[in-house]
Amino acid sequence: MTNKRASIVIDSETKEVFDWSMSKKGTRNFSEHIRKLLNRFHDTEDFSQLLKEARKSKLFCEKHKKPFTLICKDCEVALCPDCNINLHQTHQVQFFCNIHEVGYQTTCMLCERDRWEGIVDVPLLNAVELKEKWELGNIIFIDVRGDSEWKEGYLPNSYHIKWIDIRLKNTDGHKILEDLIKEHRDKQWIFISQGSSRHPGKPARAWLAAADIKTMYHINEVACLEGGWSNFHLKFPDIIEYPNDSNHKLESRRS
Ligand SMILES: [Zn+2]
Ligand SMILES: [Zn+2]
Ligand SMILES: [Zn+2]
Repeated sequence: MTNKRASIVIDSETKEVFDWSMSKKGTRNFSEHIRKLLNRFHDTEDFSQLLKEARKSKLFCEKHKKPFTLICKDCEVALCPDCNINLHQTHQVQFFCNIHEVGYQTTCMLCERDRWEGIVDVPLLNAVELKEKWELGNIIFIDVRGDSEWKEGYLPNSYHIKWIDIRLKNTDGHKILEDLIKEHRDKQWIFISQGSSRHPGKPARAWLAAADIKTMYHINEVACLEGGWSNFHLKFPDIIEYPNDSNHKLESRRS
């Protein structure tokens, strides 16, 4: 995926006319004026339509002139339906979301989150706020990361319920969830996912899990960790527990 960007250089005469044109048309903002010009240039009134088209064409396979539909995670290469997938047969190939430019297995979580945003309110907590809440206690922390991410360490006293288990009844995770709901529905619930450097601050899995719980089970006080566990762990590396630690802790609690 090449990301060619135009560098904007304006010669002095063009700038003079541009300033004059802006004042004549009463636009105060540079981008707004450019948008008006672009709309005229492409015979449309709808800038969002132009934006869509621009994004779509950026995500086209130059060789086959078709939009990308798959991505090979191993080669970090997007593929159109005509690209040779045999080259990636033993690789991890996923569907490609050409809005968010990410791979996904069943549904793009970022698209799903965009659909819910503005409809369900899920506040974000930053790492410092989460630490304060954690120290206060009396809050339900749900870690929605995958098994391998979770095994690398997690927030002590949090519950591990994989994101997929929140929606899949009859899973172990879902049973833990049902028990927690019975006992703690009036508490605040905070959701933690891994976080990614590509979309910092926008934790898709934790956000969706929180939105699910809020709408499906009427848990009113939900929030999710901004930047995810990876960001929290960078800030507070000492607040961590490993799967083996918790076994010891459970035993010492029992005794
Ligand atoms: Zn292609
Ligand atoms: Zn590959
Ligand atoms: Zn998407």
